[in-house]
Amino acid sequence: MIEKTKQSTEEKQLKDQHHHLHPFSDPAGLKKDGVRVIESAEGVYLRDSDGNRILDGMAGLWCVNLGYGRPELVEAACHQMKELPYYNTFFKTTHNPAIKLAEKLSEITPKHMNHVFFTGSGSECNDTVLRMARHYWASKNQPEKQIFISRENAYHGSTVAGASLGGMKPMHKQGGLPIPGIVHIQQPYWYGEGGDLCPEAFGLKAAQSLEEKILELGEDNVAAFIAEPIQGAGGVIVPPETYWPEIKRILNKYDILLVVDEVICGFGRTGEWFGSDYYGLQPDMMPMAKGMSSGYLPIGGVMVSDRVVEVLEAGGDFNHGFTYSGHPTAAAVALENIRILQEEKIVEKAKTTVGPYLQKRWAELANHPLVGETRGVGMVAALEITNNKEARTRFDDNGTAGTVCRDFCFKNGLVMRAVGDTMIISPPLVISHAEIDELVTKARKCLDLTMEYFNAAV
Ligand SMILES: *Cc1c(COP(=O)(O)O)cnc(C)c1O
Repeated sequence: MIEKTKQSTEEKQLKDQHHHLHPFSDPAGLKKDGVRVIESAEGVYLRDSDGNRILDGMAGLWCVNLGYGRPELVEAACHQMKELPYYNTFFKTTHNPAIKLAEKLSEITPKHMNHVFFTGSGSECNDTVLRMARHYWASKNQPEKQIFISRENAYHGSTVAGASLGGMKPMHKQGGLPIPGIVHIQQPYWYGEGGDLCPEAFGLKAAQSLEEKILELGEDNVAAFIAEPIQGAGGVIVPPETYWPEIKRILNKYDILLVVDEVICGFGRTGEWFGSDYYGLQPDMMPMAKGMSSGYLPIGGVMVSDRVVEVLEAGGDFNHGFTYSGHPTAAAVALENIRILQEEKIVEKAKTTVGPYLQKRWAELANHPLVGETRGVGMVAALEITNNKEARTRFDDNGTAGTVCRDFCFKNGLVMRAVGDTMIISPPLVISHAEIDELVTKARKCLDLTMEYFNAAV
């Protein structure tokens, strides 16, 4: 019986290898190792084709905030598909799910944001933002305000604009990116780049690089500053406490737009509805996706501030949009997702009970010999693997330790992601205390195994 399952896994892997090109993957590596086939999921657990039960410490790709297997979301999709599976929102049309979701998003986002431009993903949001911000300034007769200031190691998606706005060097190397008109300043990553400065001083310095860049480019040429409240894919980089207040001070001084990319932080991840609430930010545009539908269907949207909408409304046609902007079935699922987040007080719990418990247990890992730092906010956290706690050095420059640790995690029933030698988690918001205990116990065990691996290599 077991033999048979195994074989069928191999068959699936082979077929996948023959016909499927995977995102962010080396085809040769996949060929060698084979892909993991995930067949079902319930709550915070995945099940693979060999019957292994795996705790999903990443909520898929930071998105399954409600956990797997919520029948209400399935029913919402089913009901909507029977009534109106698809219609567009171009050409003077709309439909009930888009109307209701737009209204609901206006209610839960910051007060000064009351309009949404729907998309199918986070990347599409950031393509939208690039064009919308430039259109905004052109409509105000300041068409020279074109440049976006972003940050090194930011992640804003994988389309041409998304990857260009992002600051990931390996992505820029392919396809001739970034496109013109996008520049990147230092990220507020104290552990990796803080040197001898204390976190507070480094946070100020990283923030002040925004002002230096604005002055260098000329305020009249800058359209917007874009940033994630907490960098996610870059390694769950929680900025030092001095960072956002200094950024706010600078933004108050200059007439440029603030785009806060909420694709990960939105919908409760930080213990507030949005990262902007957590840090007290006043965005002009807010890209959202991922947790918007708990990943059950693809949907995203850019929330737009009243002051920007006012200008757009006088600016004529905005020649931009997607076939699936406001997709009725996806919108119905997003609405149901938000209803459950509200009624079950899941965001509140992420702030008052589950989040604090996760952070308390996670911080205990700091005493492990391989751990240089732990950090986190709400339901997202990271730790740094080091071979020298004081010097904050790595075993090597290739992120080997992170990869080794991640592979041990997979083998031991835990999805924990590696970004270089930074291990990160972002579990479903509905994870229980007992499941958090299991996550932390498994993480410690895999850190032990990683240490044994390096000791044996010496
Ligand atoms: C994932 C992500 C995106 C891109 O979203 P897609 O839905 O994958 O296109 C954009 N911004 C941030 C902060 C993200 O984490």
